[in-house]
Amino acid sequence: MINTITPALFAKYPTAEALAQADPVEVEPLIFKSGFYRNKAKALVGMARALVERHGGRVPETMESLVALPGVARKTANVVLGCALGTPAGVIVDTHVTRLSQRLGMTTEEDPVKIEQDLMRLLPREQWTPFANRLIWHGRRVCIAKQPLCEQCGLAPLCPSAQMPGTAAAKPKAKAKPTAKAPAKPKAKAPAKAKAKPATKATR
Ligand code: SF4
Repeated sequence: MINTITPALFAKYPTAEALAQADPVEVEPLIFKSGFYRNKAKALVGMARALVERHGGRVPETMESLVALPGVARKTANVVLGCALGTPAGVIVDTHVTRLSQRLGMTTEEDPVKIEQDLMRLLPREQWTPFANRLIWHGRRVCIAKQPLCEQCGLAPLCPSAQMPGTAAAKPKAKAKPTAKAPAKPKAKAPAKAKAKPATKATR
């Protein structure tokens, strides 16, 4: 979706200076399809103005400077640093990386910043960006949110969440329903609280 939107956006506003002078209302129709377009239009224009005012219209090259821009958090900053500049400062954690790293048992966290910290500990620095990009592609094509295509997945033999009865992946699953819960471990936290409440009610 973003790739279909940006050509017209960049054609109309080819530089940070051009976008900085725009009225967010003019930007809205160009990004309408991406959702939350009003907030995004304000953020884009605010970001462009900050680029012009603080950085001479150039994209800064540090995490600290990037996340100080309107509308920019670690995910976007990691894309810029890792994909555009080749100087990764962390792991891109979007919806796909969140879901797949949980399903693969690489994290039990739900907060993107904590997931990123887990992945940074597990992966060598040179893999921070390529690994995230692989997970994103895998999440779009195979390990989709509603119904992962485990039977077509090359990671199934390694994945604690694989749903393939009768295959090698079923063994770890059978023996490791705890591990199978591991991908859902983010729920393992919630369950911890959830358990506590029911226990209290039951006692009463
Ligand atoms: S085996 Fe299934 S749950 Fe695991 S990564 Fe592949 S598609 Fe996702």
